[in-house]
Amino acid sequence: MALNEFSLIKQYFADATQKRQDVIVDIGDDCAVLSCPEDSDIAISIDTLVSGVHFFADVDPFTLGHKSLAVGLSDLAAMGATPAWFTLALTLPELDENWLSAFAEGMAALASQHNIQLVGGDTTKGPLTISIQVHGLVKKGTQLRRSQAKLSDKIYVSGTLGDAGAALQKRLSSWQPSELTEQDWLFLNKRLEQPSPRLAISQKILPFTHAAIDISDGLLADLGHILETSGKGARINLDAIPLSSSLQKIDRQQALKLALSSGDDYELCFTVAADQVAAVEALNLDIQQIGEIIDEQTIVLLDEDGKPSILDITSKGYDHFA
Ligand code: ADP
Ligand code: MG
Repeated sequence: MALNEFSLIKQYFADATQKRQDVIVDIGDDCAVLSCPEDSDIAISIDTLVSGVHFFADVDPFTLGHKSLAVGLSDLAAMGATPAWFTLALTLPELDENWLSAFAEGMAALASQHNIQLVGGDTTKGPLTISIQVHGLVKKGTQLRRSQAKLSDKIYVSGTLGDAGAALQKRLSSWQPSELTEQDWLFLNKRLEQPSPRLAISQKILPFTHAAIDISDGLLADLGHILETSGKGARINLDAIPLSSSLQKIDRQQALKLALSSGDDYELCFTVAADQVAAVEALNLDIQQIGEIIDEQTIVLLDEDGKPSILDITSKGYDHFA
């Protein structure tokens, strides 16, 4: 029988992810019904990826399945929430079984790593668009907020910055620094297409963290959100910005520009009270202290020789309507 909407859901999505005990009604009814532990609240976030806007139409569907879920998981990490359930609204131009099975596999592989279950969705025909709503659990009162940065907090980021931006820049232009090898491009493309949401780091830093955000639009733009909502500014040591070994090979100004203002990193940026720094450092995580919170509402960038450049705090990353 030809694939239709119902057989498609059954075949590719109904049993795509592991079953959780707290799912009372699963895919196949009018609603999913979920059970929330008494000591927790629910954190929700939705993201839409539109073909030609958020991804290249010809992108590998397996990595697209991964990334569609990863961006939501990154939001849960930024809130200090633990992944629980997600729903998927899929708009497809046609029923392409190879595409669907690879997409579902990429999504399910990441879902199983983070114990999040697909519990429902919607399937429609139209230009390729993927919306995923993630639901996480957060112990009451422990959620991380953007607005909680305090004077003299130390600012941290996870992982390395600018890698996804480098891969994107290569796709969009003729930019191809001679220092980068095929291996470097494999790494950089993976950073763009299959980001790793920093949920493990988020859970470990949770007790020590004042403010947090995930870096989806570039460090300056997203740190800017912390500063704006907290009514504070920041001093950043450019020397301390973590760059991958690939980005360390290219022109330093170019690498820093990517690290500061290109998007799609899905790393965490968070602030820690000065007296909690030792405890955070003792966790031995893949994180780097890059600066501190100041009262004056600007971003001061210090380069190697300590020479400051002052940035307008509204310095932007990617804005759909700009
Ligand atoms: P309704 O007509 O009540 O909206 P649908 O036919 O849209 O129901 O969906 C039937 C069931 O399949 C529902 O449980 C819905 O959550 C689920 N579902 C539909 N599309 C998807 C999808 N892309 N992924 C996961 N579950 C889906
Ligand atoms: Mg429906």
